[in-house]
Amino acid sequence: MVIAGLTGGIASGKSTVSAFLEDAGAIIVDADKFAREVVQKDRPAWREIVNTFGQSILLPDGGINRILLGDIIFNDPAQKQILNRIVHPRVISETATRLAEIEKKQHGSVVILDVPLLIESGMDTGLSDIIVVYVPEPVQIQRLMIRDALTRAQALARIRSQMPIEEKKQHATIIIDNSGSRENTRSISLTVYQRLKEKFAPQGIS
Ligand code: ADP
Repeated sequence: MVIAGLTGGIASGKSTVSAFLEDAGAIIVDADKFAREVVQKDRPAWREIVNTFGQSILLPDGGINRILLGDIIFNDPAQKQILNRIVHPRVISETATRLAEIEKKQHGSVVILDVPLLIESGMDTGLSDIIVVYVPEPVQIQRLMIRDALTRAQALARIRSQMPIEEKKQHATIIIDNSGSRENTRSISLTVYQRLKEKFAPQGIS
């Protein structure tokens, strides 16, 4: 099994590339999905979040108001760190469980660990590669404004609350430049998949 991490900046095209890699044959392990699951109502992380941020963070149905929580942490790095300390260890544990399951059942696979905060969370160790989906910041701003219907200022605030994409790029072993067309990125993603597949079976055994 080959496990490569996939990350990028907000709206750099990580989800787009993840879908292309999946089409190519990779198994995607989505850390964001785990991050949503571990904070579901009445789970331990949910309780810790309510204790820390207060009842006002809840929606009428008792679920966490992710937009409100997002606004709080975007504007306050200390709060962001507190939330990360609650959520990250649980995401790491869910990820490990899922990887062990794949290792057992689909041993020859190329696994893509799709983690927005791969580098920041320290989940980038022990991987065969670190794939960073890259676009220059002006493209990132444009795409984020369109996708999430944000003003330029809102988009910039979200981008600036993250590790700069240029810095993430320094950690990459594979950079997928997504500033061209989708088709161009699809073709790069396919090449990357094949390269990873060959790592597992250098003599053509899979
Ligand atoms: P991320 O998962 O990194 O936040 P997305 O994959 O959602 O980013 O891409 C951000 C936005 O840019 C989406 O609206 C997506 O449809 C669009 N997008 C992604 N890649 C391209 C591309 N190569 N050309 C044009 N638009 C793109």
